[in-house]
Amino acid sequence: MAERDPILIVGGGLGGLTTALSLARRGWPTRVLEGAPQFGAIGYGIQFGPNVFHVFDRLGLSEQVGAIADFPAALSMMDALSGKELIHIPTGASFRARFKYPYIVVHRIDVHNILLDACRRTAAIELVSDALVTSFHDQGDGVTVETKDGRTFSGAAIVAADGLSSLFRAKLIGDGDPRPSGYVAFRTIVPMAEVKTDVSRDIVALWGGPGLHIVHYPLRGGTEFNIVAVFRTATHSERGDPAAYRAELESAYRDVHPAARALIGLLDMRWRRAVSDREPARHWHKGRVVLLGDSAHAPLQSLAQGAGMAIEDGLCLGELISATDGDFTSAFRQFEAARLIRTARVQLESRAIWDFYHLDAGVARDVRNATIADWDEAHLFDCLAWLYDGAVLPGVKAL
Ligand SMILES: Cc1cc2nc3c(=O)[nH]c(=O)nc-3n(C[C@H](O)[C@H](O)[C@H](O)COP(=O)(O)OP(=O)(O)OC[C@H]3O[C@@H](n4cnc5c(N)ncnc54)[C@H](O)[C@@H]3O)c2cc1C
Repeated sequence: MAERDPILIVGGGLGGLTTALSLARRGWPTRVLEGAPQFGAIGYGIQFGPNVFHVFDRLGLSEQVGAIADFPAALSMMDALSGKELIHIPTGASFRARFKYPYIVVHRIDVHNILLDACRRTAAIELVSDALVTSFHDQGDGVTVETKDGRTFSGAAIVAADGLSSLFRAKLIGDGDPRPSGYVAFRTIVPMAEVKTDVSRDIVALWGGPGLHIVHYPLRGGTEFNIVAVFRTATHSERGDPAAYRAELESAYRDVHPAARALIGLLDMRWRRAVSDREPARHWHKGRVVLLGDSAHAPLQSLAQGAGMAIEDGLCLGELISATDGDFTSAFRQFEAARLIRTARVQLESRAIWDFYHLDAGVARDVRNATIADWDEAHLFDCLAWLYDGAVLPGVKAL
């Protein structure tokens, strides 16, 4: 086989690393350019539905991921004001029988390290950190990128896995900044021993209330507890000091059920982010450049599937580049066709669910609660099947 130019992957997040592994198993060399000083991840929890295991299986990583995961007993939605459970999705034996794979929660660093170690063991993957890409050129028969510190890298094509505020999306789609939701998020991990309040520790729990929610679940064999608090605020795009953040949180959650409200006191005031997503859009590719993961289709986190979609993308794109023998125009066109509807549905349903969680007291909320009271396990599984059954990967031959 003639030596191939590497494919440049911009961004060493979960999407970029999965793409590198997917290409490498078909013999394609890649160079992953990460802007941060080191490859790594922000240290918080992440949920994965069973759909992601279709990808981990193909990459031979399911066992390793399973070994560092926690397996929650259920996904549960509570009314944040009354504490009443509204939805209960068991994720034990019946869930596995239906969806073949489990629902897991993991420390993002742990899963990132599994992918990174697999990349480091693969000669065809070169990892370059401290390489913030600031510009790129498509010469028709190849590509180059420049980094902030003046280096130039060339390759056969560019996979832009550069996240929510993608430089490449700005050039290819040009639809401006991410869409602010008007909400902010706080995320914290604490030792389980510090959780004194009476909340379930072995499930993924979501407490939804007017303009706010709290999510919590266990990590690392139940020794740690991940808490995310999200609420609507006029100050979502502003920065403040910890005292101002604390006062705003206490006010936002004042009417919340005491068991959940007690978790607010455990939050770290140093990590606060405005919550944003992207409008579903076509035209993810131009010439030898293609968007992947959040740069193409960032959702709100209500379905907990943004990283799952980036990982599915990575496998799909790698397979299509290989199946077309490096005909990038054809591979990128097929990639967008294969992934657009599924990822746009995640974006749109995530917005609908976001609103559904956050209803103010009133008729709409009463209708929601009355409707979901009739949903049994079989109905909930049917509603989730389009997502949890996994992606269809057209034109992909099995290894
Ligand atoms: C509060 C919260 C909770 C979430 N929970 C879940 C969950 O439970 N499950 C789930 O599936 N998803 C979840 N998500 C979504 C998930 O985090 C993202 O969808 C996922 O990280 C996208 O992966 P990515 O590889 O596309 O981009 P990213 O993870 O954003 O990675 C992009 C990488 O590119 C690098 N980069 C950016 N620009 C450049 C550049 N110019 N040059 C070089 N490198 C660059 C960045 O440093 C980064 O490493 C959550 C998101 C939030 C905010």
